[in-house]
Amino acid sequence: MTEIISSRMGGVALGDVTAWLDSYLNVSSFKDWSNNGLQVEGNSTVTRIAASVDTSLRSIEEAISSGADLMVVHHGLFWNKPLMVTGPHRRRLQTALDAGLSIYAAHLPLDAHPEIGNNAMIASALSLQDASPFASIGQMGELPYEQTLQEFAERVQKLTGEICLVHGGGGGSGVRRLGIVSGSGAEFITQAAELGLDTLLTGEPEHKHFHDAFELGLNVVYAGHYETEVFGVRALAAKLEEQFGLPWQFLHLPTGL
Ligand SMILES: [Zn+2]
Repeated sequence: MTEIISSRMGGVALGDVTAWLDSYLNVSSFKDWSNNGLQVEGNSTVTRIAASVDTSLRSIEEAISSGADLMVVHHGLFWNKPLMVTGPHRRRLQTALDAGLSIYAAHLPLDAHPEIGNNAMIASALSLQDASPFASIGQMGELPYEQTLQEFAERVQKLTGEICLVHGGGGGSGVRRLGIVSGSGAEFITQAAELGLDTLLTGEPEHKHFHDAFELGLNVVYAGHYETEVFGVRALAAKLEEQFGLPWQFLHLPTGL
């Protein structure tokens, strides 16, 4: 309540927001090539939030025009290696800093979060039962009833609003035991088959794994890297509103990938 009052009176201290995020997302417990946490420090007070899957010049510009002083993202600007401040990286940083826009990145912590993580949210939207961890960030479990691969793909398409790429490696078998890995999860095809799953739902295909699915008898539904990762940042921004009374906006900037 104190926070909500302070927000009405002109914002919340950036440090309070990032400390809450670090703790809620359990950021320090993740080994991740993303540098999770506050990546760019802008205004010391947060009055409005933007949420975006990616950090690009466009998402930064749209966050600024929406009036946000903090953008929470799934894919940040820094990925565990030194980067020269040149080219697109310089323009992104300069645009954010000139406008006082802070950028907070949450990669694996936002895939794996048990409540608002990308995988938990997809699992719950698909009514996955007895869900348990799979492929470190993902979830596996059983659908309430068996569906044909086409029925299942249509259900996923309804959820994301985009067309899925469907590889019927199961040779006509239905979908019941499902594994979910948001983003880039084609590398888990073998693990999914070994665990007795009949279908893997993930974001982005990789050519080198194409034949494995067919030879292992596994259906794979690729729903898009972007489309499987909109759930976490949106839910996280809604949590920030609940916690601090800060208004927010989701910047929908699909990549089609
Ligand atoms: Zn991703």
